[in-house]
Amino acid sequence: MTSITENLELTRERIRVAEQKYRRHQGSVLLLAVSKTQAASAIRSALGAGQYQFGENHLQEALQKIRDINDKRLVWHFIGPIQSNKTTQIAENFSWVHSIDRLKTARRLSAARPAALPDLNVCIQVNISGEQTKSGISPADTRLLADEVSSLPGLHLRGLMVIPAQQPDFTLQRQAFSETRKLLEELNTYGMKLDTLSMGMSDDLEAAVAEGSTIVRIGTAIFGHRQT
Ligand SMILES: *Cc1c(COP(=O)(O)O)cnc(C)c1O
Repeated sequence: MTSITENLELTRERIRVAEQKYRRHQGSVLLLAVSKTQAASAIRSALGAGQYQFGENHLQEALQKIRDINDKRLVWHFIGPIQSNKTTQIAENFSWVHSIDRLKTARRLSAARPAALPDLNVCIQVNISGEQTKSGISPADTRLLADEVSSLPGLHLRGLMVIPAQQPDFTLQRQAFSETRKLLEELNTYGMKLDTLSMGMSDDLEAAVAEGSTIVRIGTAIFGHRQT
């Protein structure tokens, strides 16, 4: 086994164990392999081990790999900051966008989504820890943006994405995810039908699953440390 195959197996096992421990349905948490900075060959190794969902956060790099690999089975998720001048290519090449945090980019993605493709699945990125340097909309402003995004054609608002402040303490990790879950539940009491919580990375996967994550975004634990 290559180390990527091995790491994928270990990550899947972590998810299985967490699902069981926190009474989540087996298979209810999707593993998104975050392949940013990794070569196309690393993605092919993961693909060979049955991984089809990949996350990228830099458009040019992602487009290169999407073209190189050119395999229709792959599902590409854009998880990085969105520059307005990149929305057309994002709308044309991805199935998911996790990082919407303002109406302007949502409108541009909506306008650019090709009619021949299914609706683009989108999540609103929430700055749940209130960090000055992080992207994401404030929890207080999320409902208004969610209302507006859910009415845009070509987009299917699925839920929320968060990157909480790094935190080694499990209880505190859970707290940020718990706040995100409650925010999603609140939106659903206002009549939305959101089914996605994109939360949990290599170091806080278990806490995220405990609080209802449906997509964990895992880079380092699968591909090893990134080159910077
Ligand atoms: C890089 C990245 C990840 C993966 O982080 P790891 O700690 O390497 O698992 C997840 N989500 C986003 C938005 C990222 O940019």
